[in-house]
Amino acid sequence: MSLNHVRPWRDIYRRKSRQIMVGNVPVGGDAPIAVQTMTNTLTTDVAATVAQVQAAAEAGADIVRVSVPDEASSQALKEIVRESPVPIVADIHFHYRRGIEAAEAGAACLRINPGNIGDEARVKEVIKAARDHNCSIRIGVNAGSLEKHLLEKYGEPCPEAMVESGLEHIRILQDNDFHEFKISVKASDVFLSAAAYQGIAEATDAPIHLGITEAGGLVSGTIKSAIGLGNLLWMGIGDTIRVSLSADPVEEVKVGFEILKSLGLRHRGVNIISCPSCARQGFDVIKTVETLEHRLEHIKTPMSLSIIGCVVNGPGEALMTDVGFTGGGAGSGMVYLAGKASHKMSNEQMIDHIVEQVEKKAAELEAAAEAAE
Ligand code: SF4
Repeated sequence: MSLNHVRPWRDIYRRKSRQIMVGNVPVGGDAPIAVQTMTNTLTTDVAATVAQVQAAAEAGADIVRVSVPDEASSQALKEIVRESPVPIVADIHFHYRRGIEAAEAGAACLRINPGNIGDEARVKEVIKAARDHNCSIRIGVNAGSLEKHLLEKYGEPCPEAMVESGLEHIRILQDNDFHEFKISVKASDVFLSAAAYQGIAEATDAPIHLGITEAGGLVSGTIKSAIGLGNLLWMGIGDTIRVSLSADPVEEVKVGFEILKSLGLRHRGVNIISCPSCARQGFDVIKTVETLEHRLEHIKTPMSLSIIGCVVNGPGEALMTDVGFTGGGAGSGMVYLAGKASHKMSNEQMIDHIVEQVEKKAAELEAAAEAAE
């Protein structure tokens, strides 16, 4: 269930899945829904890839995936794994040797479809390498690369074909007594993805990795992902997510977290509640929110901040937030602390002052959390 259980109309009942480990991150069961992204640097460029992994982790990524297209990348992976603050998933396509090398290099998980890597002996070798190196596997069904026999059977990529593909790969792992796997059934079409995910969620108890593949650029991809992943998460489906954007991996992580935050499934950092602004605004709301988003990026403690242009909605929103500012007249506004009007502040000094108040509140919340442990 989500953290919102005090208000039953906000409850989300998560599908019960088996829990697996991706390195030290539990995925499935009652573990928090993990946020993932993928690097887009050359894996052989270790410094650039590690920098990207670190930036993603700093933004909140729990797990990061790295492509391993050739042997040189497998070599680089070793160093990347060593430097990474989060578990690394190795993305393997078809080539079984890369799978073995990645497991040996310390990958926490292989993204590989066992049905696509050749004969039984090869499959067994990869599974053995995964088992020997404590490496889980993600089966990644993709509507764009379904097996030929399924396309012939179903005529086109459809939810049934995707579920069948997933179950075929699952069977191979199970026949080899390998159960540390999760599965995704991605498509770039929101309807197809959602239907396939619902089908696979009913057909297996494996943890599910959610994603709308090739979702597009920052704005369109965010919307597609929010609709597709949002609906599935709301239904209780999904143990780990990746928002695929033609944008910086850090943006993917931010969007992933925002989707989870919107549904009360995870909380991280400052949740800013702000009005769209209009002629009544007592200060420049849009510019202020942009600046505050940037200046408060370092805060990881979950808390809320309302930035509202005028008294029409300001006091009401401030009631529910840890820190608030509502525009007033004559170049100043009201600062709210813990829902109560506290003191006036000039618009010029307001941003620095709000940052200070938020940092203070975050420190208080962190101290209280530590004391409770
Ligand atoms: S809160 Fe005030 S400034 Fe903001 S949109 Fe509403 S009326 Fe306009």
